[in-house]
Amino acid sequence: MQTAHTKEELRGLLASMRGRRIVFVPTMGALHAGHASLLHQARALAGEQGIVVSSIFLNPVQFDNAGDLSTYPQTPDADLTLCKECGVDVVFMPTPDVMYCADRSMVMEENHLSTVLCGASRPGHFAGVCLVVCKLFNLVQPTDAIFGKKDYQQLAILRRMVRDLDIPVVLHGAEIVREEDGLALSSRNVRLLPQHRAAAPQIYGALRTAARDYAAGASAEEVRASVIDTLSAIDGVRIDYAELVDAETLHAPACDHRMALLAVAAWFGDVRLIDNIELVRA
Ligand code: AMP
Repeated sequence: MQTAHTKEELRGLLASMRGRRIVFVPTMGALHAGHASLLHQARALAGEQGIVVSSIFLNPVQFDNAGDLSTYPQTPDADLTLCKECGVDVVFMPTPDVMYCADRSMVMEENHLSTVLCGASRPGHFAGVCLVVCKLFNLVQPTDAIFGKKDYQQLAILRRMVRDLDIPVVLHGAEIVREEDGLALSSRNVRLLPQHRAAAPQIYGALRTAARDYAAGASAEEVRASVIDTLSAIDGVRIDYAELVDAETLHAPACDHRMALLAVAAWFGDVRLIDNIELVRA
């Protein structure tokens, strides 16, 4: 495994690999089994002849909350060990100064899918995600990239970016990896207080109940209300949103003949957790 810290080093490492399949997994570090799952899928997709590239970059531009950025866990040594174990060929680990010029003046704006769900409560977040992913795509020039469905809205917006800007990369969505008790793995989970960690699996419990009820014919509003009831009964929890939307447009209403998405964001103390589940009528 080789590591690049600058754009020049990255270009140098990749120069001799052009023409091969390059599968890219961008991350912000503090890697866990969810990231490992993406990296394993990347290795399988690349095959023996292909290249797996990962980036570890805590992108300041996508943080709408300074406290969240300053407390975001960083574990670079463990991250590199995990990348190696997962068969990554090249890791790109730039600093913000390497990624961004001080007088940067380009912005990336998506103005339909980004207006709802997390986009409504985190102004500028998806513009920051699109900016960094577009830059990383230009640097790595991957044939394929893998993103987790944990960040479902992010994946939908990046699919839109790739489509609307004709970026020559195929995006793949990876299933959510969970703890045994159902909590979706997240780098932020380590910041949960013990009582919030104990209660957090109720998110997935509520989503699963909702999926079962929806399949059995419950209305979108009934399903949404049941999730809100469950989560608002937990001490110290504040719901940011719980929405049932079309899985592609991310807007309501969900149509019975298309995949729907039930997406939730809630504050457990000062940690904001997100989760979602795809829904279908039986
Ligand atoms: P992050 O480091 O949070 O930016 O995440 C990097 C990539 O890993 C994104 O595509 C995430 O959607 C994905 N990811 C994070 N947590 C999980 C999880 N629990 N299951 C599957 N993918 C995940």
